[in-house]
Parts: sequence; structure tokens; C-alpha cells
Amino acid sequence: MEDKNVEERIYDVIVIGGGPAGYTAALYAVRSGLSVLVLEKLSPGGQMTNTDQIDNYPGFPEGIGGFELGERMQKGALRFGAENQFAEVKSVELSGPVKAVRTRKKEFKARAVILATGAYPRKTGIEGEERLAGRGIAYCAACDGMFYKDKTVAVYGGGNTAVEDALLLSRICAKVYLIHRRDALRAAKVYQDALFGSSVELIWNSRVTGFLADKRLTGVVLTDTGTGEKRELSLDGLFVSIGRIPDTKLFEGQVSMDEAGYLIADESTCTNVPGVFAAGDARTKKLRQVITAAADGAMAAWSAEQYLAGEA
Ligand SMILES: Cc1cc2nc3c(=O)[nH]c(=O)nc-3n(C[C@H](O)[C@H](O)[C@H](O)COP(=O)(O)OP(=O)(O)OC[C@H]3O[C@@H](n4cnc5c(N)ncnc54)[C@H](O)[C@@H]3O)c2cc1C
Repeated sequence: MEDKNVEERIYDVIVIGGGPAGYTAALYAVRSGLSVLVLEKLSPGGQMTNTDQIDNYPGFPEGIGGFELGERMQKGALRFGAENQFAEVKSVELSGPVKAVRTRKKEFKARAVILATGAYPRKTGIEGEERLAGRGIAYCAACDGMFYKDKTVAVYGGGNTAVEDALLLSRICAKVYLIHRRDALRAAKVYQDALFGSSVELIWNSRVTGFLADKRLTGVVLTDTGTGEKRELSLDGLFVSIGRIPDTKLFEGQVSMDEAGYLIADESTCTNVPGVFAAGDARTKKLRQVITAAADGAMAAWSAEQYLAGEA
């Protein structure tokens, strides 16, 4: 008897995640003649929906809103016949030639699966952060640095990304601080050498423990980790760079990940599991941006097509 909770049809490709990686994968896969289903738990666009303005995606000289770009990417994939359902994937079974992808209500099947679940920036957890995000608090210097041209900003963190962000901002902003909670950075020596030769001012042994704001961020409260002493630092912007969290828990035990939880895959997007591909921010890579996510999506669709052709 037919089980209403199990979709009998076997798709060529299921894409999990409707960000730039997911919809680009769907666009390329469907244009290769494959049947494609995209499952997205929220709305089209992924992290892009958290930003009002994307200025570094080529083809939009005036910039474009993140939400609009997400919708356009979705429409592009649907135009050629990709299917899209809004449902959270709760579990997967990725081994074997036919893979199962389950939402709360339904099980779907496919011969190839593209994992494009993205990542999100780690938050400070300090009160007011959500309200001030995009109003003085930012998480990506490559994305938002230009909004702070000739202003005073700080980067909060001590790893490679924090140092890279501080260096990038030092070429744009009037003044850049790097706030770190210890007395030594975690960043690799090559990053540190560049930093110590730059105009970035280091604030050691300090935690950000509060935000000063009117409608926008106007500064931060710093607490000395040794003495507990508090002081205020006036800022136009704070770039929080204390790590990112890949949205990959769902795949634990099935797909190889690095220690931070990123899905291990090179530019081919092939994972350790045949027929399973990792695209966008969720995979191990150096630059996590809309354009690199979209490029991964195209590559993942191509790799899936090759895999399915070999399987046939
Ligand atoms: C505030 C902010 C501003 C940014 N600004 C820029 C910018 O100006 N320029 C730029 O190039 N980049 C920018 N970025 C980075 C860029 O948005 C990301 O690099 C890009 O979106 C990554 O795309 P992705 O498709 O890999 O993942 P994501 O965009 O993270 O999309 C993943 C999608 O998967 C969905 N998903 C996750 N788990 C499940 C599940 N279990 N079931 C179903 N769906 C699931 C999520 O809901 C999400 O929609 C910004 C990021 C942020 C946070």
C-alpha cells in the first residue's frame, strides 16, 4: 500500500538548503536535464536575507538587497523546472545508491544529494546584539567594510579571520582596533607579521561585555580579563569575528567533517560519500561569500551529473 508520508518518486538530485549555493546547484542541475528538488527550511536566500545591501556580487553596479537576490536566484532555478518545498530536513540516510531525505512530514528520495546548508556567524550573546546587527554590528569585513569607509571600527577576535578582517578594514577605515581577550593571537604567524606592521591598534586582554548605542552602535564596553576593570571605547562599527558555525549537525556520522564541523570537500565538492556533494559555506574553503557559494553550486551540479552518468 502507498505510504502518504513517503514520496515514491526518486529525484535525480535533492538539494538541501536554499541559499546561493543551493539555488545555483538547482539551476545548473535542472538545466542539465536532471530532476531536482530543493528543500529549504526558512525562505529563499540563506544568509543573504540578513543584509540589506550586497555590493560585491557582480552584475549589480548599484548593489542589490540580499532578500531580492535570494528570490531572484530561486526564480531562476524554478524557471527551468526545479521543484522547491519549504520544509526543514530532519534526518538523512546518505549511504547507498538511493538516498533518503526526511522532513517532519515526508520522506524524499534521490540518487544524488547536494548539501548546501550554509553556516552562520557565532554571536557574542551580549544584550542588544540582534537589534544592532546591521546598525553598527557586522560579521563580515569583506561584505560590509565599505559601509565604514573613513570611520572608526574594531574587530573582535584573535584568529586568522579576525586578523584578515582587521587588515582589510585598515585599508578602508580611518582607525581600526583589534580587541582580543588574551595576550597573544591564535592567528598564524604570517597573519601576525602583517598585522604588527600595520596601523591596526591592538587591545589585549579585553572582552567586549556591553554595547553603547542610540539608534546605532556608538561604542563598546570593554572588561579587562585580568583586573575586571571596565572602560568604554567609542566606535562607529564593531566587526564580530569569533568564528562561524557550519549548519552540518544533520550529517554527523555520515559525511566526513573537519574539527569545526565543515564538510570536507575540495573544489570538486565531492565528499567521502559517493553521490553526496557539499557546496557553499558548509564546506571546507577559504572564502565564504555569495559568489563562491554560487560557484560551488554550479560545480556540485556538474559533479552530480558526472556521478549519475557513471551510475546509469
Ligand atoms: C549579515 C551578513 C552579510 C553578508 N553580506 C555579504 C555580502 O555583502 N557579500 C557576500 O558575498 N557575502 C555576504 N555574506 C556571506 C554570504 O551570505 C554567504 O557566504 C552565502 O550566503 C553562503 O551561501 P550558502 O548557500 O552556502 O549558505 P547559506 O546562505 O547559509 O544558505 C543555507 C540555507 O540552508 C538552509 N538550511 C540549513 N539547514 C537546513 C535544513 N536542515 N533543512 C532545510 N534547509 C536548511 C538555511 O535556512 C539557508 O537558507 C553575508 C553574510 C551575513 C551573515
